[in-house]
Amino acid sequence: MNSSILILASLLYLSFLFGVAYWAEKQSEKGKSLVTNPYIYALSLAVYCTAWTFYGSVGRVVTNGIEFLAVFIGPSIMMPIWWIVLRKIIRICKAQRITSIADFISSRYGKNATLGVLVTLMCILGILPYIAIQIKAISNSFMIAMRSSPNENLDKFFLNDLSFYFVIALSIFTIIFGTRKIDSTERHEGMVATIAVESIIKLVAFVTVGIFVTYYIFNGFSDIFSKASHIPELSKSFIFNSTTESSTWLWHTLLSVMAIMFLPRQFQLAVVENVNEKHLNTAIWLFPLYLIVINIFVIPIAMGGHILFPYNTVNSDEYVLAIPLRFNEKLLTLFTYIGGFSAATSMIIVETIALSVMISNNLVIPTILKNSKLQDKFGGNISGLVKIIRRTSIVLIILLSYIYYKTIAGHYSLVSNGMVSFSAVAQFTPAIIGGIFWKGGTQKGALIGLLVGSLFWFYTLMLPSIVGAGFFPQSIMDHGLFGWSILKPFALFGLKGMDSISHGLFWSLLFNTLCYLYFSIKSTPSSIEHSQAVIFVDIYEYSNHVESASIWRGTAYLNDIQLLLSNFLGERKAEKVLRLYTQKHNIKLNSEKADPQVVSYVEKLLAGIIGSASARIMISSVSKEEKISTEEVISILKSSQSLLSANKELKRKSVALEKATSELKEANEILKKTDKLKDDFLSTVAHEIRTPLTSIRALSEIVYDNPDMDVTEREYFLGTVVKESDRLSRLINQVLDLEKYESGKQKLILEEVDMQEIVKDSIDALYQQAKEKEIKVVFLPDRFAPRFMADRDKLIQVVVNLLSNAIKFCEPQKGEIVLATHYVEGCIYTSVQDNGAGIDKNFQRLIFDKFFQAEDQTIKKPKGSGLGLAISKKIIALHQGEIWVESEVGKGSKFTFMISVV
Ligand code: ADP
Repeated sequence: MNSSILILASLLYLSFLFGVAYWAEKQSEKGKSLVTNPYIYALSLAVYCTAWTFYGSVGRVVTNGIEFLAVFIGPSIMMPIWWIVLRKIIRICKAQRITSIADFISSRYGKNATLGVLVTLMCILGILPYIAIQIKAISNSFMIAMRSSPNENLDKFFLNDLSFYFVIALSIFTIIFGTRKIDSTERHEGMVATIAVESIIKLVAFVTVGIFVTYYIFNGFSDIFSKASHIPELSKSFIFNSTTESSTWLWHTLLSVMAIMFLPRQFQLAVVENVNEKHLNTAIWLFPLYLIVINIFVIPIAMGGHILFPYNTVNSDEYVLAIPLRFNEKLLTLFTYIGGFSAATSMIIVETIALSVMISNNLVIPTILKNSKLQDKFGGNISGLVKIIRRTSIVLIILLSYIYYKTIAGHYSLVSNGMVSFSAVAQFTPAIIGGIFWKGGTQKGALIGLLVGSLFWFYTLMLPSIVGAGFFPQSIMDHGLFGWSILKPFALFGLKGMDSISHGLFWSLLFNTLCYLYFSIKSTPSSIEHSQAVIFVDIYEYSNHVESASIWRGTAYLNDIQLLLSNFLGERKAEKVLRLYTQKHNIKLNSEKADPQVVSYVEKLLAGIIGSASARIMISSVSKEEKISTEEVISILKSSQSLLSANKELKRKSVALEKATSELKEANEILKKTDKLKDDFLSTVAHEIRTPLTSIRALSEIVYDNPDMDVTEREYFLGTVVKESDRLSRLINQVLDLEKYESGKQKLILEEVDMQEIVKDSIDALYQQAKEKEIKVVFLPDRFAPRFMADRDKLIQVVVNLLSNAIKFCEPQKGEIVLATHYVEGCIYTSVQDNGAGIDKNFQRLIFDKFFQAEDQTIKKPKGSGLGLAISKKIIALHQGEIWVESEVGKGSKFTFMISVV
């Protein structure tokens, strides 16, 4: 295939990845974060499948049979362990703002900087060769697709070597999406999305080749298997019976279980980039499924390749590409190439980002901070510095890997180097597992265990490949160091019969674990070690309030603490973050000395940016710290825990109390209101009764005192007495009436009525009054209004009341009153309109209240009790109707009531 097509395709693919990453970051800015999706999380974990899986698995089948499956079976069957181990690690990292595996171990054992350095170095040593073989895979696949020999590239001067340029492009990509934000709380969403997409692409590419080989070149699985059974070397590799092999299986499975949790790239994606613990639930089934699918066709491709290219004419690592190429399937070859490219680039990107965080937070920053001269130099802008360090580390890691590839890795197959890397990170297992389940693990134990394990790892696994590349004499391998045969790297202490990986893993892990246990038991932990141990092991107890518990004693000036934080977050953000925290925890920010809780919080924030060991150094540089005893630590954690639950209970109670109080208040308001209404009512009634009573009494006294009063005068007085008595009894009747309505005792006596008749009868009743005032009364009936069920007498009472009001408020002679009925859509509207005084807008609502007159004593009181409209309203309400008024002062009023008749 033409090299320019391949270059173009690679570059297009890289820009596509840029696009994905960019889009994902934009989505997240818009609040539609992609990483909240558990499937994206599970897919991103498939970064586990590197170029080693893509090309190397097939190669390994040819040389070692189905042994390759161990590294996939291990993680699959051990997935449930994640729920126990990984969930706990995720919880701890969130509470402690831990961003790398080096930081995790350093933080657990008293935020020890040396441990951080050791883990980081181990990762660099272990991972560089692994990255190197990815570069090798890219370079090889490129050469194969071009139909050249892969080794040609190795000998080229780097400027003429295309893979060098890929490496540069990758560095740029990694820098852009890996170091834009350096705070732990802000994740690399673009990067995660890219990795998830790459996982899909490599899977589809590999399965496509598999289908092509199995169903187009051969006739399905059985065809390949039966053809392969005729080839002796092949059939031999699939028989699985010797004890060596089963122990190899066991060790490789164990190794991959450890690797899938502790490889920096896995830790980065599974722990640091995790946004929701629940995503593990999806990962637990989806990730093994992914592994199964990507492995289905490994054996058919391996057998197919072996049948197609007999006598080792083509290296088995290259079958995946070589087969489509042989059949001249250009498009498929290109797609396969891109699949392998995906596998390699995703691994390089994540691994490099994870390593760069460790290098900056665990190697460089602590060194700068410990050296006061360096610190002065960079003091002002550490966050800028962190970025520079990370970017430089990214370039350095990729370049060093490139150099490693050019000098050493080029001479090895893909798989063996990967297993060496796995074994390197497996050394973290005792310190991590011990650290999260056993409070007794100490700094000393972890340090010595890790150191010893690493030495054994280096001697048994790393050294051989360096020897193989010619940097050390071969005699070490053959006769042991110093010629002592018990020191042979592949048969240490005379242990033979294991493959080199199992052998190295066995010795290194054995001594690592023994040292860890022994020195942990022998040493006593410091208070900070102890407090970290308690938090890590009992994280589920503390995770909710770790933020509010401050395991720190000492004095620090608030200014210094704030300045420190500004160095990393910028002044505005630092101020905002502190303000939010202090508001949430009810801490005052106006004192000169910083609250210990604030100091702890700032330390945690810094840990998220520069690692816990560096954060520790920074905080102690601006404060005077006091030693705090182990007992105190535990009591702080305990008290903040009980405080938290007490607080919760208190909050719950106060909420309930608040509710009860407001209910009580409401009831009280209502009571007060009715009480006032009752008072008003009583005083008004008394007042209304007193007026006629006074005149009755005065008039009867006059008549009584003047027995010789003349008859006409006496008649006049007695007439008035009778009228006033009438008014009195009417008022008392009305009050009693209203009381009946209000207490709900008043019942309607329903019969079939005709609204026209009711109005006519009412007019008849008041005919005399209207005639006296010479007021014109007109009735406009609606002939279509149907008869309906109602209380006839009560409705007459309403109309009489409205009409008598109208007569009362019309001027004599000029008055004109129009009564009308309308039947509209099931409702009868009855209105009484006059051209009298009219009602002020402010009072229109109030006139339906009882004794409206009493509300405003300044208005000139017309005759009447002020109860008529209130009673009318009750009557209409009992008929499920409504009554209202439209009026304008000086022009007249129109009272209408509506009753539904259906
Ligand atoms: P009253 O027995 O005093 O008439 P009502 O409850 O029937 O008691 O009326 C309350 C008040 O509403 C009256 O005092 C008067 O101020 C006002 N009002 C009622 N009808 C009219 C009307 N047609 N024109 C002007 N004001 C009216």
